[in-house]
Amino acid sequence: VKSEGKNNIAFYSNSLSHELEERLSIEKLLHQRIKEDALEVYFQPKYSLINGELTGMEALVRMFNQTGQLLPPIVFIPVAEESDLIIQLGKQVLEKSCRQAKMWLDEGRPTKVAVNIGAAQFNKFGFTKTVADTLLKCDLPAKYLELEITESALVENINAAKQAITSLQKIGISIALDDFGTGYSSLSYLRSFNFNVLKVDRSFINDIALEEQARNLFKAIKHLADSLNLNVVCEGVENEAQLNILKEMGCTEAQGYYFSKPLPVDELTNAWKPIIL
Ligand code: C2E
Ligand code: CA
Ligand code: CA
Ligand code: CA
Repeated sequence: VKSEGKNNIAFYSNSLSHELEERLSIEKLLHQRIKEDALEVYFQPKYSLINGELTGMEALVRMFNQTGQLLPPIVFIPVAEESDLIIQLGKQVLEKSCRQAKMWLDEGRPTKVAVNIGAAQFNKFGFTKTVADTLLKCDLPAKYLELEITESALVENINAAKQAITSLQKIGISIALDDFGTGYSSLSYLRSFNFNVLKVDRSFINDIALEEQARNLFKAIKHLADSLNLNVVCEGVENEAQLNILKEMGCTEAQGYYFSKPLPVDELTNAWKPIIL
């Protein structure tokens, strides 16, 4: 028994230290990339399902490791959130995104850019001012910026969150509630906050072409959004069947691999061509 116990302990502590090691190496890489200002931002277009025109871009951070491999955000964003590195990461992504929006504007292709904001970043004292300063620094009119915020960012201090959102909107920035439906208290948030956009998480789009249940659930979400006068953006559209159902249900804006993956700026040349509906 004793030796078995020892083995178990050895086993657990081995896997634990492996996890810890991996986490630490990600954190180290994050530190380094932030210091070098070497994070990259890819952009994924969003389109109108009414006329096929480009309606905006979502900015998505990209980080490469030492061997040039892309690490998925799902791996490093949680580490960034836990270590507060998300604040610097977010600041850099916001500035890069605003600079790009300004470039597009100056090139005669005015494009609203939507930037994801981490919970710790949103709740950091002075966040609103940081955003306003960034717009000034980049000489970007506020109407070309949207912030995508998840419920998890709003729960920490609801009154402060409300104030922040209101003052950002007063400047002219639009606010999207991201990953809608994946949190557990979404409905009450819809009433307390005045969002401009509701981004329906791609888990609700996944099966709409396969299952009636999924279609009905999506329909209910759409009705809810309509009755609250919220613009809906559907993410994760991967095929024509999904697109057709969304159109039928009166969705007016969508994003997904079917139209384009997130891409570096120089590969987005086709983004400004309307999609075929
Ligand atoms: P999200 O905000 O829900 O972003 C959408 C994710 O879905 C992106 O993954 C995008 O590449 C992916 N996607 C878009 N269309 C499709 C599709 O048709 N099919 C499938 N399967 N996936 C699609 P990505 O870039 O890996 O980012 C994952 C998450 O990481 C994001 O989810 C967001 O929560 C977070 N994230 C990414 N960039 C940032 C950032 O700059 N700051 C913060 N705080 N979070 C970020
Ligand atoms: Ca998002
Ligand atoms: Ca999502
Ligand atoms: Ca998200």
